Amino acid sequence: MSLLQVEGLVAGYGPAQVLHGVDLTVGEGEVVVVLGANGAGKTTLMRAIAGLLTSRGTIAFAGHRLGNRRAELVVRAGISLVPQGRGTFTALTVLENLRVGAAVRTDRDGVAADIEHWFGVFPVLRDRAKQVAGTLSGGEQQMLAVARALMSRPRLLLCDEISLGLAPKIVAGLFEVLGRINAESGTALLLVEQNAELALALAGRAYLLEVGRVAGQGAAGEFRDNDAVRRAYLGY
Ligand code: ATP
Repeated sequence: MSLLQVEGLVAGYGPAQVLHGVDLTVGEGEVVVVLGANGAGKTTLMRAIAGLLTSRGTIAFAGHRLGNRRAELVVRAGISLVPQGRGTFTALTVLENLRVGAAVRTDRDGVAADIEHWFGVFPVLRDRAKQVAGTLSGGEQQMLAVARALMSRPRLLLCDEISLGLAPKIVAGLFEVLGRINAESGTALLLVEQNAELALALAGRAYLLEVGRVAGQGAAGEFRDNDAVRRAYLGY
């Protein structure tokens, strides 16, 4: 059984239906990427899984139905979202952001150890621990957003366009960290990504979302070799 099992997911904003019955799975420890044009519904899919949008259909995680649970309960179940556009609280310090990410945990020593761990992975965050997040560079904020999402110790990390607007070197560093997190702790990753090249290199499987429907799926390697995918998302 898959770790995440989404079936017939329908979601949108008021009368505007964006997802028209999406089926998608993520296995334990798997890395899966969702590609799709602007407006295809990728962010809507991530927000629905994270419990930030009401939806119909089935969202099951680790064998339990999550559908329409509140976001906090979804985090408690083991899913954490790095939202599009830097998910930090800009008025809070770096340290406060990390503590907020651990709000569902009660093991204070474990939380302190994890903060140290992420300071080791992203040393710039340690240097700026007392600085408010809004004063960090884009890349630093994205590192903080990733670390903050991981502070809840998720079994599945959802990343919505974490490369958006960042310098290639920063993006490569973030992807390297994501690969390490997956390899070392077995955290499954579901990535929505414009940078298809990097995402397909990290992922085992991929989905293509077109106007709210799954238009294709397969092994990441096969996706890279598919002419239509290459032209639309890889630019060669
Ligand atoms: P992008 O790459 O541009 O972020 P996306 O694939 O993530 O695209 P979504 O952000 O999920 O797409 O948007 C899908 C559709 O839903 C779009 O037509 C968009 O205009 C619409 N939409 C998004 N957010 C809202 C909202 N808050 N209210 C109404 N419509 C919305």
